[in-house]
Amino acid sequence: MHQIVVNGIPIDVVRKSIKNLHLAVYPPEGRVRIATPLNVDDEAVKLFAISKMSWIKKNQAKYKNQQRQPERKYISGESHYFNGQRYILNVVHHTGNPKVSIRNKKYIELLVKSDYTQEQRENVLTNWYRKTLKEKIPALVEKWQKIVGVEVAEWEVKKMKTKWGTCNREARRIWINLELAKKPEHCLEYIIVHEMVHFLERNHTERFVAYMDKFMPLWRNHKQELNQFPLAHEDWLY
Ligand SMILES: [Zn+2]
Repeated sequence: MHQIVVNGIPIDVVRKSIKNLHLAVYPPEGRVRIATPLNVDDEAVKLFAISKMSWIKKNQAKYKNQQRQPERKYISGESHYFNGQRYILNVVHHTGNPKVSIRNKKYIELLVKSDYTQEQRENVLTNWYRKTLKEKIPALVEKWQKIVGVEVAEWEVKKMKTKWGTCNREARRIWINLELAKKPEHCLEYIIVHEMVHFLERNHTERFVAYMDKFMPLWRNHKQELNQFPLAHEDWLY
């Protein structure tokens, strides 16, 4: 793959043995990709891109306008996501230790002292997200080790700005993005499988895709769902 720039828009160009040019714009950030037959040169790709420029711009604008989660203040009435569901935050003051619980399948109740700052409230909620996510991972790793046929020596939940997961093949270690606590569990599962498949194949090659198709036939749906979900105020590349 390489990149060309047309009218200031970077375009990833992939050459493969296909019959026709194929243009796509991907969420979340509106990346443009053109797949071309092997014998089509960059000049022809450029002309093709120019002829499709209004379509490209229209689709990029669509993703830019997609609703983003606003900046959080961690006060009552805000929407917060957990396990792929939207909840309303309810901050309740009490004098004991901070606590988070789900009430009536509708509220995330945050019990904190009345003098807690925004940052402290955020920390309480973040720690709860981390704890709930960490509780889900061992069973999923266990399940997929058997299916994928690799061992995960170590895993950790991390705050990451641009990736849902990463792995270290040598150390047999995977890192899971804390943000996945907010997504449906099958999205978490997809990321775990994706990182484990990297133990078998380093890059996103056809071989990698073939493993994903074999182990998790619906992985494309999960990936798409992950990218279409209301985005955090950072942009995700995956
Ligand atoms: Zn990957």
